[in-house]
Amino acid sequence: MKIVVLAKEVPDTYGQRTLNLETGLAERDSSDKVMDEVSERALEVAISYAAEHPGTEVVLLGAGPESAAVTLRKGLAAGADSAVHVLDAGLLGADTVLTAQVLAAAVARGHYDLVIAGNSSTDGGAGVVHAMIAEILELPQLTNLNSVAITDAEVSGERAIDGGTVQASASLPAVISVTEQLPDLRFANFKGIMAAKKKPLETLTLEELAVEPNDPEAARSIMIAAGERPARSSGTVIIDEGDAGEQLAAFLVQNRLA
Ligand SMILES: Cc1cc2nc3c(=O)[nH]c(=O)nc-3n(C[C@H](O)[C@H](O)[C@H](O)COP(=O)(O)OP(=O)(O)OC[C@H]3O[C@@H](n4cnc5c(N)ncnc54)[C@H](O)[C@@H]3O)c2cc1C
Repeated sequence: MKIVVLAKEVPDTYGQRTLNLETGLAERDSSDKVMDEVSERALEVAISYAAEHPGTEVVLLGAGPESAAVTLRKGLAAGADSAVHVLDAGLLGADTVLTAQVLAAAVARGHYDLVIAGNSSTDGGAGVVHAMIAEILELPQLTNLNSVAITDAEVSGERAIDGGTVQASASLPAVISVTEQLPDLRFANFKGIMAAKKKPLETLTLEELAVEPNDPEAARSIMIAAGERPARSSGTVIIDEGDAGEQLAAFLVQNRLA
């Protein structure tokens, strides 16, 4: 079994995250860079399976700037066997379609049985990249899995829906996305950290993947405006001096909330 885990590098959610208002790009240097929290859980699914099934190969795949290699090494220290880093200046400003095309090309090159992604990254949060990859590669997809079971021939799991749960399965090869209901990524131990230094980390360019970022025929979206979230105002405080009900009703009417 050959599993590829899509691992995106994102700004740490605990740090200050800022947008460059001129370019509309995230200021990648404004906070620590870490592996997307849901990608980490996707990696844990793969490593846990590999621990129980000798002969399983777990490959990490990330498209991102130079710093993403450090994040991939951390994933190698946790237990992945090798990593592929797509690094190319043509990815600056990449929209979700280009990101998916690039990742799909790298997945096709690796001939994997199973692709595991997070359901929605902690920065972009589009929640579509894995679905686009499944579409491009014409693979079945299970989304938003809260549990995962893998056999030699299929992958299955439970996904929450409004008012219930659904058990779904797909034959391999397939793409799945997992939610934050799944366990956290294990901590890398000293042995893992040392081993990670020698594990293969391949770097690929868009040319090597035969993806043309500026293809005029391809579907591409562009950022037309970016704005900071307005600072929160202190709000209205209603003090009850016998007329709180009236004040509240007036507030609701004034703000068209009633
Ligand atoms: C017009 C436009 C311009 C943009 N320009 C930029 C830009 O300049 N710089 C920038 O950083 N972002 C930019 N973005 C956002 C960028 O497209 C997204 O960060 C990226 O496509 C992934 O989207 P997401 O994180 O929302 O994916 P989601 O679909 O929410 O991700 C789900 C899962 O897919 C996997 N995944 C997603 N992206 C990657 C990746 N790169 N490598 C490995 N696994 C991945 C992970 O497992 C992740 O948990 C732009 C978006 C648009 C629409």
